[in-house]
Amino acid sequence: MRIDLHTHSRASDGTQTPSELVGAALEAGLDVLGLTDHDTAAGWAEAARAADGTRLTLVRGIEISARHGGHGVHLLAYGVDPAYPPLAAALDKILDGRSSRVPAILERLHSHGIEVTAADVRRAAQGTTATGRPHIADAMVTNGYVADRSQAFREWLNPGMPAYVDRYAAALVDVLRLVGEAGGVPVIAHPWGRHGPEAMGEQAIAELKDLGLAGLEVDHEDHPPEARERLRAIARDLDLVVTGSSDHHGAGKDGHALGCNTTAPEEYERLMSLA
Ligand code: AMP
Ligand code: FE
Ligand code: FE
Ligand code: ZN
Repeated sequence: MRIDLHTHSRASDGTQTPSELVGAALEAGLDVLGLTDHDTAAGWAEAARAADGTRLTLVRGIEISARHGGHGVHLLAYGVDPAYPPLAAALDKILDGRSSRVPAILERLHSHGIEVTAADVRRAAQGTTATGRPHIADAMVTNGYVADRSQAFREWLNPGMPAYVDRYAAALVDVLRLVGEAGGVPVIAHPWGRHGPEAMGEQAIAELKDLGLAGLEVDHEDHPPEARERLRAIARDLDLVVTGSSDHHGAGKDGHALGCNTTAPEEYERLMSLA
């Protein structure tokens, strides 16, 4: 069994439609695919239609933008009901924050002589409800300012770079509660991806477990081997599910091929038994 529980489609910032993603997952030899677009379930229906009648099992998830202790945290919510009104309202507020930041980023780019319009971004973000910096990066590529998304982030869009603008994210403790109420299973995505253990150590993770956290995404390309071993030990101590995944974004992110990290079948079974 090859299980990849964290991927993105054009419903957020992946470059493949949900159907194309399902086709690519079959080609990559996966048996289970988690579709976890940022802050939206908009890709689920198309992915489910594409997976129907194939050997691929689709796991429905959302990667929710949250904040905890002053740091951004991405929470993977599996099997959650996105129509549960308080969760739907929280997601709408996050999506509004995504949209409302775009003009501010474009204004900063403009002040540095980089001309990208809101219409350019809309064109680049065709099919998504979760507009993000990757779509602005794509518009910068189209308009000839950078070669690819990576260069756009490195030189302009990352924190500390001239066009960076923060956006709203929901408080993690609130998101954990809402996901639980909506029947979902919460797993922290790449816990030490952007920040190391100083942002979220064992004590903090233990507190989150008391609030309903079910698992940690240990095997992720953003984690070097030592981080994976330490996170795996924390998960074992706290009896949390251990997942592994690609965080595939189609052609939008190098080094995240489908199935480059996978989840063990017994961990997957544990996760599903909690849903
Ligand atoms: P945003 O959702 O607007 O906050 O932008 C963050 C998203 O940008 C993440 O979900 C990543 O998928 C993507 N991202 C971050 N850094 C890079 C990079 N260097 N190359 C491509 N995509 C990136
Ligand atoms: Fe992304
Ligand atoms: Fe993420
Ligand atoms: Zn992701």
